[in-house]
Amino acid sequence: MRARVGDEDAAHVARCVQTSDHRKSAARRRSSVGAAHRLRGPAGGARGVRADQCIIRTTSAMMKPTVIAVHTTTWRGTVQASLGCLVWLAMPGEAAAGVPGPVTRFAQPLRAPRFAQTLRAAAPEDSRTRCSRGRGACAAARDLRDRRPEWRQNAGTKLDELCGMSDVDAASCLAEHASRGPRYTSYPPATEFGPIALEAVQRELATIGERGEPVSLYVHVPFCKSLCWYCGCNVIATRDESRGTAYLDQLATEMAMLSSHLRGAPVREVAIGGGSPNFLSPRALRTMIAALDRYFAIAPDARRSIELDPRTTTSAQVDVLATGGFRSLSMGVQDFSEAVQDAIHRHQSTLQTRWLVDRARAVGFDDINIDIVYGLPLQTETSFARTLDAVIGLAPDRIALFGYAHLPSKLPHQRLVERAGRVLDRYERATLLLLGIEKLTGAGYLHLGLDHFARPGSRLVRAAEDHRMVRTFQGYTEHQADAILGVGVSAISSTPRMHWQSHSELPAWERDVGARALPVERGIMLDDDDRIRRAVIGELMCYGAVDLGRIAGAHGLDAATYFAREIAALGALGELAGYDAEARTVRTTAFGRLLVRNICMVFDRYHHEPPGLAGAAGEGQTQRFSSTI
Ligand code: SF4
Repeated sequence: MRARVGDEDAAHVARCVQTSDHRKSAARRRSSVGAAHRLRGPAGGARGVRADQCIIRTTSAMMKPTVIAVHTTTWRGTVQASLGCLVWLAMPGEAAAGVPGPVTRFAQPLRAPRFAQTLRAAAPEDSRTRCSRGRGACAAARDLRDRRPEWRQNAGTKLDELCGMSDVDAASCLAEHASRGPRYTSYPPATEFGPIALEAVQRELATIGERGEPVSLYVHVPFCKSLCWYCGCNVIATRDESRGTAYLDQLATEMAMLSSHLRGAPVREVAIGGGSPNFLSPRALRTMIAALDRYFAIAPDARRSIELDPRTTTSAQVDVLATGGFRSLSMGVQDFSEAVQDAIHRHQSTLQTRWLVDRARAVGFDDINIDIVYGLPLQTETSFARTLDAVIGLAPDRIALFGYAHLPSKLPHQRLVERAGRVLDRYERATLLLLGIEKLTGAGYLHLGLDHFARPGSRLVRAAEDHRMVRTFQGYTEHQADAILGVGVSAISSTPRMHWQSHSELPAWERDVGARALPVERGIMLDDDDRIRRAVIGELMCYGAVDLGRIAGAHGLDAATYFAREIAALGALGELAGYDAEARTVRTTAFGRLLVRNICMVFDRYHHEPPGLAGAAGEGQTQRFSSTI
């Protein structure tokens, strides 16, 4: 197959080769990404186009053109253009044509459209309508646009400014790249936990106590007065409030056991979650706070946070918490549409929610988070926009925008959600996600990590600015201590050396606590490789970039050697992330940030499953993990 590449292109390639300037203009990035989505060709096929000055190869096409290598006859190196944004310059011998390899430094972005045009002209006619993922992305994008409400037909998103896609194209591309994988609230993920010796946990607690290492405490209250059908938490639905009192007695016993190991190690943070901690009466809440203060050396300035259900919280409970020093509050909204609330069996008005926000503010809470969920049955762009507007109107400090994790094979009650209608497919999920980003950032919230939004100047934003934001089992939080110790049924503990989880079934947990034994069910010891990868994945999840050189260097390793397989694999995710060999840093693109879990999977040595497709129930190959969008 032959095509001519003009002198102007060759001259530009030469300029790219000669420069180490890596300033990337937004316009060029836009054109580069735009070109990526205009390419055509057979899925996964390699194509070479020989011309007077250049050979162009692409290992993929249309939706996923992973690498373009350009060989010039006037220079003996290789320019690799990963069409996500960047052109990489590799020195002779460092990269084979069409195969991602070590990269020495950034060069100026290649003017991809011209090369795209050349490739398009050379492509066989029958290959031009096929997508590299074989999913008919263009047709899906058209279909998506047809289904959109009129007011959204020509809407743009913040993503447009970053990577030059219209929102419908961005949604389509997001959907095409969606997979299933861990949420990476820990590494290794909880799915890798297995049998673990009780003595190992006892030794770990003794080490923390002997060294006086600071800890964060997490207390789990599993009860809710009714079950929301979409719920993915460890929950016991009951209206019998006496169960809360009995549970509290057992909690105090477990706290006493734990504190005997810790020997006064300082507690920097207390978080209470569930379930619904406000299942406990004001008196029971006061008793629990007193037990925490009695058994643990809680620092005077320790952060105290709690999850509350606006439907069932009383002013007496809010007052008890404020008196007990609680200043951070998280509450669920999910969706304010009545139809959606019917579908998920959770009825909560804006009035109830506003009341809790106002009441908490009045008694001194200075950090309020609201959760929203996209992907639920009957959600539409119009209804979801109303929910977003209503939540923005409540002016919380933080908003978490979660994708619904529909895993009915693991959580059979989620089948009830399907009664009202089908769970949204991945195209619809992507559209709502982008709408959420557009609305929340448009309202002034800063997008942090994967799915959190926070007001400028808020605690989480300050933590992110100071590089103190971390990803834990509670999502994105300020770093307070390296060790997080869980109390209560199913609670997970995490230290620099191991993770473990308490029994997830209440009878088993009660049996062990009643016998004065730590109620450990499963866990995992971390080796050096786990710690290195944990640091890498944590940085990617929080900041969308990771300095592999610094992390590997801290362990006396060379990043390029240690992560050679992963760096090569990133070449196949060219639209999502790139590796700067000079800085030894992985950086996600604006688009890739929304799929950062896909990128983390590259560094996850436990993740061997074939990529499943996300979306509606049963569409994926596996229901072990949730969709990555
Ligand atoms: S209130 Fe929260 S924890 Fe309780 S059932 Fe509903 S979603 Fe689950």
